[in-house]
Amino acid sequence: MKFNTKAIHSGQHPEETSGAVMPPIFQTSTYVQEAPNVNKGYDYARVGNPTRTALEKLIAGLEDADECACFASGCAAMDAFIKMYRPGDHIIASDDLYGGTYRMFTKVFEPFGIDFTFVDMTDISKVEEATTDQTKLIWIETPTNPLLRVVDIEALTGYAKSKGITTLVDNTFASPYLQMPLHLGADAVLHSTTKYLGGHSDVIGGAIATSNDEIMEQLRFQVKTTGAVPGPMDCYLTLRGIKTLHVRVQRAVENAKAIAEYLESHPQVGEVIYPGLKSHRQHEVAKKQMKDFGAMVSFTLKDDNVESAKEFMSSTSVFALAESLGGVESLINHPASMTHGSIPKEVREKVGLKDSLIRLSVGIEDSEDLIEDLEQAF
Ligand SMILES: *Cc1c(COP(=O)(O)O)cnc(C)c1O
Repeated sequence: MKFNTKAIHSGQHPEETSGAVMPPIFQTSTYVQEAPNVNKGYDYARVGNPTRTALEKLIAGLEDADECACFASGCAAMDAFIKMYRPGDHIIASDDLYGGTYRMFTKVFEPFGIDFTFVDMTDISKVEEATTDQTKLIWIETPTNPLLRVVDIEALTGYAKSKGITTLVDNTFASPYLQMPLHLGADAVLHSTTKYLGGHSDVIGGAIATSNDEIMEQLRFQVKTTGAVPGPMDCYLTLRGIKTLHVRVQRAVENAKAIAEYLESHPQVGEVIYPGLKSHRQHEVAKKQMKDFGAMVSFTLKDDNVESAKEFMSSTSVFALAESLGGVESLINHPASMTHGSIPKEVREKVGLKDSLIRLSVGIEDSEDLIEDLEQAF
């Protein structure tokens, strides 16, 4: 099956008792057993729920993975994954990554004795230098957030394999429609389904897909034991969202391209960062590993001043000033004070995240209206 068909049908079948075409919301906490420990595959809803199973099968299909485990949020999925590691283990992560990931690694897991090194993964020699005998995991985020750097997944997973190191790709920014990390050698792929998969900014969720049985067994153990699971209604909403993933992302990417070109030729704009622009430093890598270039665009104003950037962000009306991304509606965001406020200023500056940076999550409105909205803000 090809992608668009999979987005609608993968792992989905009519419900058995009624023939309902869409998966019902199984709002139950427990399941009747025929005899002690004899059941229909479900015993208690922390462990499993048929609506959640339908979602897990759909995401696994999209990532071409054997299995997927869903969580209450992207952060809950990350938390479950890192709990596979032990004090003394070393993990290498991108230095430009989701603010909440950085916060979890440094504030929750470092105090428990897991070591992290954050490096610019666009330069693979930096990853090689950071590798120690204790390195167990390379945590890749690409395109990165919010600087939209593109990491060569295949090169990095090739290196990791030669050292026996596990690799995980946070694929939230690209979505499986644009990028398939498992095909590029990654062991696991993670999503905040809150973003493109859900796609309508109305539900929080997370997922990890893998074809590695050992990893999946540990994740299922985490699901059962620590219980950060999504409710059936949330699973239903995410399922409903995914069925239009390809149509939404395709349209959002078209809009993002038009906006990136508009911004690049605007006299009041400083730098425009969009992997689809020839001026982007990893444009060729993006072309190689992504089907298209995504719908996130970051830029600075020519005067490079924080106050005028903030004024700009408060002057749009179609673009809503809000955190998050990947929904049908366009959003504008100030990473330094909003999504990446939990990263200390010195660390932000070191990776090149300026306080004047503006990040756009481009939605599926008419591009003329979006550009007009930006124009009046200038
Ligand atoms: C939002 C996000 C997360 C965290 O997901 P939540 O669903 O908000 O917990 C992780 N990684 C990336 C890249 C994100 O954008």
